[in-house]
Amino acid sequence: MLPSREVRRYNPRILFSGEIWATMEQPIYLDSHSTTSCDPRVIDVMLPMFHESFGNAASRTHTFGWAAEAHVEQARGNVARLIGGDPSEIVFTSGATESNNLAVRGVADAYSRKGRHLVTCATEHPSVLDSFHRLERSGWTTTILPVNSKGHFDIDALEQALNRETVLVSLMYANNETGVVNPVEKAGHLCHERGILFHCDATQAAAWLPIDVEKMQIDLLSLTAHKMYGPKGAGALYVRRRSPRVRLTPLIDGGGHEKGMRSGTLNTAGIAGFGEAARIAVEEKADDSERVRILRDRLADGILKGLKDAWINGDMETRLPNNLNLALGNVNGEALPGHMRELAVSSGSACSSALPHPSHVLKAMGLDDELAHSSIRFGLHRFTTDEDISTAIEVTLRAVSTLREQDPHPPPHKDHRP
Ligand SMILES: *Cc1c(COP(=O)(O)O)cnc(C)c1O
Repeated sequence: MLPSREVRRYNPRILFSGEIWATMEQPIYLDSHSTTSCDPRVIDVMLPMFHESFGNAASRTHTFGWAAEAHVEQARGNVARLIGGDPSEIVFTSGATESNNLAVRGVADAYSRKGRHLVTCATEHPSVLDSFHRLERSGWTTTILPVNSKGHFDIDALEQALNRETVLVSLMYANNETGVVNPVEKAGHLCHERGILFHCDATQAAAWLPIDVEKMQIDLLSLTAHKMYGPKGAGALYVRRRSPRVRLTPLIDGGGHEKGMRSGTLNTAGIAGFGEAARIAVEEKADDSERVRILRDRLADGILKGLKDAWINGDMETRLPNNLNLALGNVNGEALPGHMRELAVSSGSACSSALPHPSHVLKAMGLDDELAHSSIRFGLHRFTTDEDISTAIEVTLRAVSTLREQDPHPPPHKDHRP
């Protein structure tokens, strides 16, 4: 585990100057479902890749190429170890968006003669849902499982959705907005009993929960480095090679890198950093989870004890240890971020094409637009401190009571509690 001095050092707003720790006028970073800062140990591994080991990992004729390749293979081993796979089953990509597209569209193309039906869930990441929608436009049938108010799909509904035409089921391990954890092992077994391939987007779980592709019967699994203290632009897709051997049509053709599944010169620095992040996760995620869960629970208690009309979005029992997602009633959601400037958090509105629209995840759980807009997501991380949590409680309580006094919002929403 990082010594607490190092935890403080790499908290983005705490500076060590001479003898004292000083807090910068920077918000407290609590948005780690969007991205995390790089762990200092990751940066140490990456920097030499830009000037010493800068070779092209595909260059076979000199030491620069061999050194780069050695770093890539070491990283491949560490990523494989993180998920219980074999290094030969790891395909490096640019991140989880690409991995999800490659898994869904690549499998669909390679298996379209078996059948043309796919299954996923309403709360998946847009890179899975939009891949499904693209396939629907070219004639595929899809089942998009609904979720209940706690964010869970019904496992019986999954079973009933499977038929002889079903080629692939894609379900995430943990949700990026609510942190709700899916029963992936059960889903994996249901699929394998029927000879159906199972893809799991484990992007959010990788830094916190155990992953074992054998035990969980996962055939394809997506990861990204930048949600586990690695750099942006590096990710991986695990592709099972034995029982069954999964076939994939690549999205990107070219020099045949990554066993032909993903051509293009490898992002060696990013991959080396990803490998180090994976190595650290294997060693430290159990400790990180335990420590951060306590902080998260204190955050939840502190806010909920001090506020009326505030509810937790999603099941608190099966949830990532670093996530808290709160619905705040009687608050003008648009004004909320402006009153919480000391905190870097996300709201329940996603901004695409300039227009904020309510989160599809919260809507799928039955929240109305109003309550989705006035929801906030806290994402804690390895470098979160006790002081961060005290400030976060204070700021949130103050912001909500100020807003409720200033702008006593009528309560238009129905109580969404289950
Ligand atoms: C962030 C995220 C992605 C996309 O990953 P990128 O590497 O940013 O493309 C996919 N799935 C989940 C669950 C995520 O949280």
